[in-house]
Amino acid sequence: MIKIDIITIFPEMFKGPFNVSIIKRAKEKGLVDIYIHNLRDYTTDKHRSVDDYPYGGGPGMVMKLEPIFRAVRALKKEDSEVILLSPSGDLFNQKLAEEFAQKSHLIIICGRYEGIDERVRTIITREVSIGDYVLSGGEIPAMVIVDAVVRLIPGAIGDPNSLREESFQWGILEYPHYTHPRDFEGLKVPEVLLSGDHEKIRKWRRKEALRRTLLRRPDLLQKTKLSEEDISFLEEIKRELREEVKNGSCNSES
Ligand code: SAM
Repeated sequence: MIKIDIITIFPEMFKGPFNVSIIKRAKEKGLVDIYIHNLRDYTTDKHRSVDDYPYGGGPGMVMKLEPIFRAVRALKKEDSEVILLSPSGDLFNQKLAEEFAQKSHLIIICGRYEGIDERVRTIITREVSIGDYVLSGGEIPAMVIVDAVVRLIPGAIGDPNSLREESFQWGILEYPHYTHPRDFEGLKVPEVLLSGDHEKIRKWRRKEALRRTLLRRPDLLQKTKLSEEDISFLEEIKRELREEVKNGSCNSES
């Protein structure tokens, strides 16, 4: 069981995404407890203010420390992972999702405005970005992280095999999927998938996953431990690609 506490000034944003599909079922099965906390509940002034002008001037407002410290102190336990969402954080990826899925308690702080007073870094244990772009707030990044983490909790997904096969789980992208019909307006399902030969299908899928990774994310291959079979598939794929280029250039010359 993982407990996730999310601190935000827009709690209403979480109603939809956390009440459907895998997250909903994981909550119902008692695999995860998710609590959304309105940061304004941790203010003490009449206006429930959470932001103020930046010292030194400049545009925009900055989120104040006091309500955030109060909220984190109220929620924090000894082994809590306190995550600050920020474009300057460590880039979120499958490895980090796996790491978070092992924790018993996550506290996620959603920023708004120009971000949070720098001194917030003294109470966090992790600073995480979901990508090299700037969003209006940390709520969508929090949803991304919760979604990626919850589906990794054992029991959250009906068929755990589907997790094993997914993109990034083995450091490379996933193989292509097909379903009925066999022929859609001339677009055919690869014959091998209809063969019933499990070993042939396994090999085809592995090779296509490697092909896709080589073509779209070759950087991932540098970081992945490849088997001898993988290396020979990659050699085959490179030969096939060279052939395609050769044939393509032959065609264009003729
Ligand atoms: N001024 C900040 C900067 O340039 O880094 C951006 C602040 S952004 C408008 C407001 C909040 O959205 C941030 O404090 C953070 O919590 C969240 N946020 C925006 N982009 C994000 C990203 N790529 N990853 C994680 N959180 C993000």
